[in-house]
Amino acid sequence: MSFSIHPLLDNGLTKGDPNKAGGKLYCHCQGSARVEVTLASNTAHNHACGCSKCWKPKGALFSIVGVVPSDKVSVTAHEDKLHIVDSSAVIQRYACKECGVHLYGRIEVDHAFKGLDFVNTELSEETGWQEPQFAAFVSSIIEQGFDPEKMGDIRQRFRSLGLETYDCLSPPLMDLIATHTAKKSSAAKSK
Ligand SMILES: [Zn+2]
Ligand SMILES: [Zn+2]
Repeated sequence: MSFSIHPLLDNGLTKGDPNKAGGKLYCHCQGSARVEVTLASNTAHNHACGCSKCWKPKGALFSIVGVVPSDKVSVTAHEDKLHIVDSSAVIQRYACKECGVHLYGRIEVDHAFKGLDFVNTELSEETGWQEPQFAAFVSSIIEQGFDPEKMGDIRQRFRSLGLETYDCLSPPLMDLIATHTAKKSSAAKSK
């Protein structure tokens, strides 16, 4: 078929190593000019995302993004090259000013996912990272110009990889967001 979901999925899905304890991510600059981020943890909830905000490799319709606890993320080289892509967004995405690659995204406002950073483990030279678990914001690719008539092919491709497709996040993550909202409103009521 004539589209690329993502280079990591176009030739099938490779299972990760559940014991992987982290590793390094690099931007696309050359050699010693690379921004380096060190993760002291594997990702959780790794997934394909069709939204317009996540960083996608050239030609791919989806990003692949997962989360790690914020205290497990450290910028270990060239932090000065990072800038926040859109400071009004819930997720503050830190990208390299030179090559445009997103190194991590962090939430500073009150949110169910505060304390978790969003990362793209394809920026690592190592293997064993958690494999994608599902596809999120699938219909969003239409907003970015994808032919709505071909959405069946996209969903079929994900299903053939064993991945469920959603047009928001997966049910466990939507439940987390709703739980956070419910806790806030009951806290407000008890005042
Ligand atoms: Zn760079
Ligand atoms: Zn996204």
